[in-house]
Formats: sequence, structure tokens, C-alpha cells
Amino acid sequence: MLIVGSGIAGAYAALQFPPHIRVLMLAKFTEEVSSSNLAQGGVAAVLSFEDDSFSLHIEDTVIAGGHANDLEAVDVLVREGPGDVRKIMEYGVEFDRNETGGLDKTLEGGHSRRRIVHFKDSTGAEMVRKLMAEVRTRKNIALSENTRLYNLTKVTSGFRADLLTEEGPRSVFCSYCILCTGGIGRIYRYTTNPKSSTGDGVRIAQELGAKIKDLSYIQFHPTAFHSERNEQFLISESVRGEGAYLLNHKHERFMHRYDKRLELAPRDVVSKSIILESRRTGSNQFFLDITHEDAGFLKNRFPGIYEGCLAYGVDMTKDLIPVFPCQHYLMGGIEVDMDSRTTVPRLYAAGECANTGVHGKNRLASNSLLEALVFSRHAAEDIMRCVANGNAGVSAHPANLDFSGAPLPGNLKDEIRSLMQRAYFVLPDEAAVRTGLRQIEHIQRRLKGSRYAITPEFCDISSMAACAHIILREVEER
Ligand SMILES: Cc1cc2nc3c(=O)[nH]c(=O)nc-3n(C[C@H](O)[C@H](O)[C@H](O)COP(=O)(O)OP(=O)(O)OC[C@H]3O[C@@H](n4cnc5c(N)ncnc54)[C@H](O)[C@@H]3O)c2cc1C
Repeated sequence: MLIVGSGIAGAYAALQFPPHIRVLMLAKFTEEVSSSNLAQGGVAAVLSFEDDSFSLHIEDTVIAGGHANDLEAVDVLVREGPGDVRKIMEYGVEFDRNETGGLDKTLEGGHSRRRIVHFKDSTGAEMVRKLMAEVRTRKNIALSENTRLYNLTKVTSGFRADLLTEEGPRSVFCSYCILCTGGIGRIYRYTTNPKSSTGDGVRIAQELGAKIKDLSYIQFHPTAFHSERNEQFLISESVRGEGAYLLNHKHERFMHRYDKRLELAPRDVVSKSIILESRRTGSNQFFLDITHEDAGFLKNRFPGIYEGCLAYGVDMTKDLIPVFPCQHYLMGGIEVDMDSRTTVPRLYAAGECANTGVHGKNRLASNSLLEALVFSRHAAEDIMRCVANGNAGVSAHPANLDFSGAPLPGNLKDEIRSLMQRAYFVLPDEAAVRTGLRQIEHIQRRLKGSRYAITPEFCDISSMAACAHIILREVEER
């Protein structure tokens, strides 16, 4: 059993397998480099029914998704999710408690009820830490860090997986593979995603013939700390949930011009409102203001964000936080069914790289960690049903891999990021989409036409180009 990824989807999938199934889990860098590890806000789940219900969570998810959601998938997510949240608490994952010892639930944009459980403002790190601690107790799971899957080839009863490791290339055979490779954010200049998010799983699945769906359904988070770095520091939705105002360059609130839900409108609405307001005023300067809240409360509720802002010289208890939208999340991805099966037999996908259809056109805040839990478990359960009498092994595969060749010239990563930023950032630019497509096709011809060395850089760029191409094609068609 090969699991590609050590984020929440990969870790939770691995934990579903019984001791007699050998699992090899890959991480492209060290185990903590993942979007999961950066998740701040929390996990949305209906864990009590006093003032919440499954139907309200379903309704909020579908409204945020622009009614483009797969209703069966949403139903499964909302009804089964609470069971998975309770399960990870058994593995030791902690969530903040209120004065009476109950779970402290917070509010985020698009939610009609306080239903997001969180561990301060570093929920994802807490989940990864505890799930990976549990993974380490399992003798049947081996984790290989700094090992990237470059390619999958169909062979009898499974796949040959070609890997780039620190010791050089090697191959393994696996009878089943679950891709849990995360998002595609690094194809943009400004993103909250870590360096692992170059869309490798999407490219590898596409090359195997799997269907990719709605890759252009990308969420742009409205409030990242505005800086010139590639990886932007996120100012979680829950800061607005706790009462922060969004201000324009004149320090005026402006959301009333665009949506009656004001600062708590869904993310896509807030991001578009910022872009429209910037066109109206001619300024890219925007701020979050939460200085009216108690300083002690802010430091305790948002310790990570408080420290992160201080590193840029901004004290959020006294100063306005400069913010601007940036790429944040991929709603579309590798098409999967309710069992997380892709259209290629024995190939599964879960987490951010998969398209279950739960999010529609726009993910409701804090639904993605829940999706990663529910549907990675589904993948493992389906594989266990398939292997009841068969083999789910992973073993060394002899292969003569020659990854040598010429070094890749130029800085193609920057080229791809600049063209994506121009063509499709929050709102698409028609002319830039057409030009961008031509540029991407040119890059892809260069990658395929010359005999370049298969290096980590080559692997990233191939994936980024493949994803950028699919996205711009979809945008052009739409
Ligand atoms: C800053 C930030 C804040 C967020 N906050 C929240 C939140 O509060 N609530 C919420 O629900 N969601 C949140 N999200 C989204 C959520 O964190 C992600 O959607 C989710 O964690 C994705 O999990 P994953 O396991 O699918 O992918 P990831 O956690 O990104 O893990 C991907 C894994 O795949 C590995 N990988 C990738 N390519 C390869 C390859 N070729 N070979 C080997 N390994 C590979 C990586 O090394 C990594 O281990 C946030 C995201 C970010 C970036």
C-alpha cells in the first residue's frame, strides 16, 4: 500500500490499515511540510445539537459553494465528519475548551452557527503532531521523508512508482496507491501554501489517464498578511469571526457596498469585494482592525498570528494588519467517487488534491480538514474491501532508472507564477489567459522536447506547468 503524502489525508488514511497491511508513506520534504501543518482556524463539525444541526451545516456548505456542490458528498461529509473528529480526539488531538470544560466552538465566514473546533490558532499542527505520533506506534507503517513520487506506471496488479530520494532514484511496486499530495498553490506568486504544493498528484494522475475536474475552482483567501514573500502568512478567517473589521486605504469599512454579511461573507465574496474596492479606489492597501478587542484575549486566542504579525513589526492588539488576497485552496482536483476511487483502477485520491465535489465552487471555511479525514478513511475502507482475500503489498521493484540529462535552464517557476498571477487571480483576465496558455504550452514543449535531468526542480516545474495548463484551459472554456 503506497500513500503519497504525510498531511492529514495521508496520515489518517495510513491509520485505517490493520497490522497485516504494509504501508509505505512518502513525504516530499520532512513530515511537517504540508498545508495541514499550517491550518489555523479549525475543523467544522456538528458535535452537539443544542443550536446546530446537520441540515444547517449542509445548507451553509452549499450556499458557500454556489450550489455547485455534489449533494451526496456534502451529506456524507457532514453526517460522518463528527465521528472522525471524535476518533482523532481518541488519538490524542486536543481542541480548546470553554470555562465549563466543553469544546470551545468558533465562527468563521459563511457559517450560521459556532461549530468550528480549534486548538488555539494552530489546529492543523496539533492534528498532524498527534496523528503522526500514532503513525509512529504502528509497525506496519514506514514513513520515507525527502522522497518524492515522480511517476506512476501501470503494471500487472498495481503500479510501479518511481521515486526521487536523497540517495538517488529508486522504484517500488504497490498494488494500490492513495494520492494525498495536497494543493497547487505554488503555481502562484502569492499563496498561503507550503513548498510541497506544486500539484504533483494531479499531474501524475493525469499522466495515468485519470480524469481531472474543476481545477480552476481555486479559492483566494481574502486576508493574507501583505508582503513580498511567495508563501504568505495567513490571517485566519476566525480573526474576522471574533470581530475584526476590514478597512480600505482610507481606513473605512467598505464591505456594506458588496454584501450584507459584511466581513463574514464567504471567502470568494470577500476576496472579490477587495479587488472591486481596489479598482474603485485605485489602491491595493487594505487592513484588518481588531484593536477594539481586549489585548489579553487576542494574545491567548491568536498566539501564532500575534507572533507572526510581530515578526513583521505589527502588533495586532494596537496596529492595523495590512492584508491582501492570495491563492489559498483548491476545490477541484483528481475526480473521485464516494469511495475516493479515481477513474484509474487501484488509484485513489484524498484531501486537497481530490475532487469529491463537497466544496462546489467555493469551500466553506474549515470544511477541508474534515473532508481530508472523511474521504481518506473512505479510500482505506474501500481498499480493505478489495483486498479481503488479495494482496495490498508494497515492495522493491527492480528498474533501470536513468534520470540523468542536461540541467533545466532559466527560472521557469517564476515564469509560470507570473503568468498565472496575471491571468487568473481572483477574477480572470481574458487576454492574459490566452497569452498565458500559449506561454505554458511553449514551456511544456520545452520540458518534453529536450532531455533534461529528472531532478526535484524538473518534477516541480512539470507539475506546475501541467496544472497551470489545465486551469487556464478550463478558464478559457468557461
Ligand atoms: C495557511 C493555511 C491555513 C489553513 N487553515 C485551514 C483551517 O483552519 N481549516 C481547514 O479545514 N483547512 C485549512 N486549510 C486547508 C487545509 O489545511 C488543507 O486543505 C489540508 O490540510 C490538505 O491536507 P492534505 O493532506 O490533502 O495535503 P497536505 O497537508 O498539503 O499534505 C500533502 C503531503 O503530500 C506530500 N507530497 C506532495 N507531493 C508529493 C510527491 N510528489 N511525492 C511525495 N510526497 C508528496 C507533501 O510532502 C505533504 O506531506 C489551510 C491551509 C493553509 C495553507
